[in-house]
Amino acid sequence: MMEIRFHGRGGQGAVTAAELMARAAILDGKYAQAFPNFGPERRGAPVTAFLRVSEQPIYLREKIESPDTVVVLDPTLIDLVNVADGLKPGGMMVMNLAASGRGALAKYGDQFQVAAVDASRIAVETIGIPVTNTAILGSLIKACGITSLKTMEGPMQRRFGRLAAKNLLALQRAFEETEVPEAPAAPSPAAPAAGQEGCTYAELLQREALLVWDQLQIGCDIDLPGSTAAFHTGNWRSAGRPYIDREKCVSCGFCHVYCPDLAMNFTDDGAIEWDHRYCKGCGICAEECPKGAISMREESHEQ
Ligand code: SF4
Ligand code: SF4
Repeated sequence: MMEIRFHGRGGQGAVTAAELMARAAILDGKYAQAFPNFGPERRGAPVTAFLRVSEQPIYLREKIESPDTVVVLDPTLIDLVNVADGLKPGGMMVMNLAASGRGALAKYGDQFQVAAVDASRIAVETIGIPVTNTAILGSLIKACGITSLKTMEGPMQRRFGRLAAKNLLALQRAFEETEVPEAPAAPSPAAPAAGQEGCTYAELLQREALLVWDQLQIGCDIDLPGSTAAFHTGNWRSAGRPYIDREKCVSCGFCHVYCPDLAMNFTDDGAIEWDHRYCKGCGICAEECPKGAISMREESHEQ
């Protein structure tokens, strides 16, 4: 039996990816199951999905704690979640990483096999949006087999309808562009990553890098006022970052009222000021600004 754990963010299609692969495996005559594990149900929050594929009936129903393969749909998760947690020694990691970010793989290279592809770029070039689930499936097939590109066509046609052709192109492109290690890494015990153990909320506040929901101590009480300030919801943004044209801004405060994360406030002289640590990039402020003073743009633009 092969056990695979998918790591993505809400809205990226990790759950759909596991389901599509399960359907394809079943079409191949295998047994398969796929199911998700959600944390906070908001777009952008870390999401885990599980996939089992076997030649024999599967009777297990629990979460996969010790996968053969992990699939990472979003490169920013590498610093937030211990994606290698429980991965079997010598196991496979299928990672969405731009070529410029491959240095991040060094910490895994001596324990696991790592297959990398720039799935975000492929998704944008084929589908038009950075939803990486179908691209990463092409990479997974290249790295682990499981099913074939041909078998994936049926489940993807059924799931995506008129958008299937673009998603199939993403699948094919990622399959072709995935770099797979030629030889398995020598098996060695996986060491737990520093800072990934559970902690109390009081300890949490002392940390520079905040933990995500499933690294908190189970049953942990949060009894301090103003505690949401400790969670940087802006560590991932969906529609770029808001930029303000101060020539147009009349300090009406609409953006402040509508922002679901209170990512901006007024300075003493009445100007509006963003704290991007809390901005999740939803774009509501830009939609609501009556003066058109806010534009959503890529992170690289200067303020
Ligand atoms: S995009 Fe605007 S409304 Fe949305 S979280 Fe950021 S600042 Fe708030
Ligand atoms: S809504 Fe627009 S005009 Fe009003 S304070 Fe915000 S940026 Fe300025």
